[in-house]
Order: sequence, then structure tokens, then C-alpha cells
Amino acid sequence: MGSGKVTTGSAPFDFQGKHVTVAGLGVSGIPAAKALHARGAIVTVVNDGDDARSREQAAGLEALGITVRLGDGATLPEGTELIVTTPGWQPGKPLFQAAAEAGVPVWGDVELAWRLRGPDAAPWLAVTGTNGKTTTVRMLAAILEAAGLRTAAVGNIGVSLLDVVLGEETYDVLAVELSSYQLHWAPSLRAHSAAVLNLAPDHLDWHGSMAAYAADKGRIYAGNQVACVYNVADKATEDLVREADVEEGCRAIGFTLGTPGPSQLGVVDGILVDRAFVENRQKNAQELAEVSDVRPPAPHNIANALAAAALARAFGVPAQAVRDGLRSFRPDAHRIEHVADLDGVAYVDDSKATNTHAAQASLAAYESIVWIAGGLAKGATFDELVAASAKHLRAVVLIGADRALIREALARHAPEVPVVDLDRTDTGAMLQAVTEAKRLAVAGDTVLLAPACASMDMFTNYNQRGDAFATAVGELRA
Ligand code: ADP
Repeated sequence: MGSGKVTTGSAPFDFQGKHVTVAGLGVSGIPAAKALHARGAIVTVVNDGDDARSREQAAGLEALGITVRLGDGATLPEGTELIVTTPGWQPGKPLFQAAAEAGVPVWGDVELAWRLRGPDAAPWLAVTGTNGKTTTVRMLAAILEAAGLRTAAVGNIGVSLLDVVLGEETYDVLAVELSSYQLHWAPSLRAHSAAVLNLAPDHLDWHGSMAAYAADKGRIYAGNQVACVYNVADKATEDLVREADVEEGCRAIGFTLGTPGPSQLGVVDGILVDRAFVENRQKNAQELAEVSDVRPPAPHNIANALAAAALARAFGVPAQAVRDGLRSFRPDAHRIEHVADLDGVAYVDDSKATNTHAAQASLAAYESIVWIAGGLAKGATFDELVAASAKHLRAVVLIGADRALIREALARHAPEVPVVDLDRTDTGAMLQAVTEAKRLAVAGDTVLLAPACASMDMFTNYNQRGDAFATAVGELRA
């Protein structure tokens, strides 16, 4: 881990009279344009689309005196001194190439929020990773609340950081979820402490390579003051800590499902323990909570709880609040959500397992599974997932556009496991999938929807896919 003086680069920025281009309308572009305009910037919004909705949004901004250029998001407006971009815009876009050539800086929504914070703004405890971000951030907020702190779960979780930073409410500390896109465009962000939960290939089309994706995730550690939290079981996260340039005295803190070493949090005899934020960590450990306090107590979720606890402890939260917070935490829908028990078989909705890394974690959490999988593979391969999970599989029911990829991996690595290929991509297929799964399951099994794929071939999003699963289970029960 590098140390030394950090240039925070987050000094108050004077927008007065500056020509700022906002790239993209929508949920982050519109509030950014308004906030910049209110601070005296001369704002131009550029947007690729020129549809009815964009025109309506443009009219609202133009009424305030903001210029909007629809149908051309590629050309850099004359005189631009700064670009503020919607996080989803890919770095390879011509607008950014033009900006790089002209020496114009590019900020994302998180960078803008960071720059607009007041002098007494709450510090950020930040979380990223391929999977588990939302769960960890919610656990963290629950722990901070249990400690009596004024806090909120914000960021990529669906609560705009800009709204929070500019809002009336005051906070002691924020639990911030950051995506790799947001981190890419947030060069001066400096969190109090941060965690990278895990790293597996995802969004590589956007980032260009695994190395670029990892580097963007690693930005979360830049300038950390107290702790860089990493996953002992995922060396790539530890490597990112080693490469990070942090504040003097900032510590590397590992979390592990095994017995923790000094400067780690881990599990001993069903107890979550802290050997990082205790006096004399060579000898002492502090009990934080029981594994059964984590809901649900699946291994990957215990890892999330340890990461949340590490960040909270880095902020000085007492052990008791970790336990109380974890007990009060309620998981979001479609994340290993127990839907019903029918004839001794549990039905679990993990529709949010939209990639193979997530599905592998949930398949590891149950002994004997009838697995419902398939959808849009987004370029993924399934060999590693199937090979690692084969011993847990009673049977598999496949749906969705790219199901052949999973079927072929099953034939290679689990040829003895019965597979029902529904050859369907219509929304109604879920009832048939659950009916088949019920037929294949025996008492003690879990029917697990963990598709390892995106949902858009059959459903609007993973929520609708999970709801369809729950509805189908309900119909079988009736
Ligand atoms: P994110 O916000 O990163 O998408 P969520 O907390 O919403 O993460 O969880 C998404 C899915 O990822 C869950 O449904 C589960 O399948 C899986 N998951 C959660 N935590 C982990 C973890 N620590 N490691 C691997 N997979 C996980």
C-alpha cells in the first residue's frame, strides 16, 4: 500500500461563468444540469436521443435558460471547460476523445456530488465489488443507525448522491454504493474507508478489459483515511489495496469466513469476530455477532456482513451496534429471498443473481438444489460455475435465450444431472419452469431461481422475473 501526501483535489470549485457540458439527460443528467446552472455555470446538455421524452425533458431545462442539443452526443460544444457525464456513457465515446484532445476534464455524477459537498459534509464509507454491494451497504447503514448515527444508504443503490449532498438533511456519515462506472469518472473522490467485496469479470464491454475494470474498482481506495477493506478469499481485492495511494496511517483490513488473523475480521465457532479494531490485536479479539444474526446466513452474505462490520468498526462503531444492526437488517427483494415451503421443499428467489459469480455464491449456499437458470448470458461462459456447483444439483430447469450455453456446460461437467430444457423465452415460461422444478424436487431440497443471466430476453428486469417466480410458486400452492 503506497502512502504519502494525497492531493485531495476536492477544493471548492467555482462554477461561475464556466462553460460546462452535461453528457446525457435522464435521472443523473437533469439534476446535474440544474445544480450547475444554479451555481452560475453556462450549461449545455448534449444527448444522443431525440425522441418525444427527450424533447419534453429538454423543454423543461430550456425554460430555465439551459441549452440542450438533442440528437448529437458526439460533438464537443465550442468553449467547453468541463464535461459532467451520466455514469453509463462509455469512455470510448467520441465526445470523450474530443475532450481528451482538448484537455477538458470529465466528471461523473459521483465526482460532481463530491465536489459540491459543503465544508462540514459527512464522510463517506464506500462499497464496491462485482456482487453484494447493495446488501453490504444496507447492512452498513443498519449498523450505523444502530450506533445512533444519522446516516443513509446512497449512491448506486438508487438514491442520487447529488440529491443527498444538496439536500436539507444533515448526516454524520454516509453508506455509499459505487459502481465501476461511477468510480471510473470520480478521480478526486476520497472516502473515509472503503471496501471492494470481490472481483469477477463483468461489464467488460464497457471497460474494455478485466484490468481496466479492476483498476476502476480500485479507485475506491484512493486517499482512504482509516481502512481499506478487502476480501481475504479474493486476492485481486488485496492487490488493489496494495496498489492504492492512501493517507498516512490508513490500514489494510481483511475479512474472511475463516479464523481471522491480526487486522482481520472473520468467523470463529459461529461467531463474527474482530481482530482489527481492538487493543493488542496479536492477542485479543472482539465478538461482534452470531452467524445466525445475519439474514440469510448464506456464506456470501456472512462475507457481506463482515465487510459492513469492518467499515463500521473503522468509523468507531461499538461491537454491540454491529449485532443490533445486523439483527434489524432486512434484505432487499429477489436476493436469496425465501418465497415459500411446499411439501418440505424450499422455494428461493435469487433473481438478482444476474451473472455467474453471483449464481455460484447462491448455489454454494444450499445442499441439494433444483436450479432454474438461463436468460441473457452477456458473453459469459458457464464451465467454472457448473463445475463448482455440480455436487449441489439435483436437477436443472433451463429457460431463456442463451440456455444452450448452460446446457452444454452441464453436459461437460455434470452429465449425470437431469436437465429439462424448456425451449421457451416467453414470460409465461416461468410457471412451467416452477412446475417442472416441483416435479423434480424431493423433501429437503431447495428450488432456486439463480439465473446467472440477465432477464431482458423474457422480462422487463430481474424484479419482474422474481415476481413471476413467486407468482408461479403461489399458483402451485393454490
Ligand atoms: P449488487 O448491488 O452488487 O448487485 P446485491 O447485494 O444486490 O449486489 O446482490 C446481488 C446478487 O449477488 C445476490 O442476489 C446474490 O446472488 C449475489 N451476491 C450477494 N453477495 C455476494 C457476494 N459477497 N459474493 C458473491 N455473490 C454475492
